[in-house]
Amino acid sequence: MIGILGGTFDPIHHGHLRLALEMSERLGLEKVHLIVSANPPHRQMPQTPAEMRFEMVKLAIKNEKTLIADDREIKRNRPSYTVETLLEMREEFGKELPICLILGMDAFFGLPTWFEWEKLLDLTHLIITQRPEINQTFSKPLQKLLEKHQTYNMDKIKEKSMGYILFEAMPMLAISATQIRQCFLEKKNPHYLLPESVLKFISQQGLYNVC
Ligand code: ATP
Repeated sequence: MIGILGGTFDPIHHGHLRLALEMSERLGLEKVHLIVSANPPHRQMPQTPAEMRFEMVKLAIKNEKTLIADDREIKRNRPSYTVETLLEMREEFGKELPICLILGMDAFFGLPTWFEWEKLLDLTHLIITQRPEINQTFSKPLQKLLEKHQTYNMDKIKEKSMGYILFEAMPMLAISATQIRQCFLEKKNPHYLLPESVLKFISQQGLYNVC
């Protein structure tokens, strides 16, 4: 069973790394692919070139066997549609291997705007990293999706290779890439928000105007 955590990783930080690692432990994932989004259709172009963001992911997870830096969306050179990534991964790993796409609640709310989103559950499970609040209302399309696919039983995701939605709450570290970029901008101390190896690379390359 493998997991996927997609992101712009501009830059990668300890929030991403703890999320990937804790999810792998909780769900029993053999590997988690950190897929660098080259050309995200839903947000502004990241300020750092994709190759540099990928280099930072590689440095951050060096020696961590469960995590894989994955550049397939960079190599594609088109908008980074998740459905295409999953199709490609199914070609590589086959239909039997359970795949868990890890998503924050924000991303889940936006799901109906994703390219060919109706096909996602035919390719993967969705693991949403927050629990819905009591009486939370989802849009009609999401309600329908949940009626069909939601499970409360974590063991289910091992039984099938795709098709379940599971809410699995994870404590979030109060770190974001936006906060780190702001920290660089204001010349504040970024230590302990992200790995030292990544900080060193940022300073060597002069990223985020750091020298
Ligand atoms: P930005 O601040 O630029 O929007 P970000 O820090 O949210 O970036 P992304 O690359 O957009 O990072 O995030 C990739 C994934 O990691 C998303 O699913 C996001 O919800 C999750 N994530 C980001 N920060 C944390 C955190 N501190 N704890 C847990 N999950 C996180």
